[in-house]
Amino acid sequence: MPEFPEIAILAREMKAELAGRVFSRIDVLQPRCLNMTKRSFVKALTGAKILDVTQRGKWLMVDTTQGWLLLSLGMGGEILLVHPDSLPKKHRLVFYFADGEALAVNFWWFGYAHFARSGRLTRHRMTAKLGPNALDLTTAEFWQRLAGRRGQIKAFLLDQSKIAGIGNFYIHDILFLARLHPLRSIKSLTPEDGERLAKAIRVSLEKSLKKGGANYEVDLYGHKGAFSLDDILVGYKPGKPCPVCGTTIQKIKTGSTMSFICPQCQPRKI
Ligand SMILES: [Zn+2]
Repeated sequence: MPEFPEIAILAREMKAELAGRVFSRIDVLQPRCLNMTKRSFVKALTGAKILDVTQRGKWLMVDTTQGWLLLSLGMGGEILLVHPDSLPKKHRLVFYFADGEALAVNFWWFGYAHFARSGRLTRHRMTAKLGPNALDLTTAEFWQRLAGRRGQIKAFLLDQSKIAGIGNFYIHDILFLARLHPLRSIKSLTPEDGERLAKAIRVSLEKSLKKGGANYEVDLYGHKGAFSLDDILVGYKPGKPCPVCGTTIQKIKTGSTMSFICPQCQPRKI
């Protein structure tokens, strides 16, 4: 599933390619992903000119002259800029542009294409409740968001309403770099822990951004990213040695999720 780096790359490419273009026709093959009827959705956005494309966590926010197109790709989703003669097989939604290209959107699991009227974005619950983008927070702001909270650190980082964009792919290395056990209670963190964690988030996400995102996701042109398992430190590497201390990396159950940790570098404290 695309996370912060992959969505950031798509937002950047979509802004560069699509700003100023007009949706001349819209085909919806999977109305289930919409937040209204197919007819209302098509009517709302046909003729709309794209003004800007930004990111909120794992959502793409397309600002148009007729309102917002809000896209969440979910697992296995893709957004491709293509020629209408060569639409990808599994497209679910196609936005045709007057100049002969098209934006083909494919959802596989939990994907959304929602519409929100201009000035009514705060009424779109799924995006309105999102926390700030993971890379927008300063260390001090990050610490402020942590201070006084209950619960465990991994759950906090994955909670999109607290901080937006981190998912299951990057979380393991973020916690490893911060030398924090996933179940560590937020209450027990020191300001130094918070500082290391804020830095670990930046380092992990920027490392992937620089490589064009994860290699199992594609960008607007269908190109795969170059960030692979080789770039991952402990995530998805049970049985391998920790790159820092050589201890065997463990796969452990942390609530409803699995985690990959070095038990030596990330000791379980409170
Ligand atoms: Zn270690």
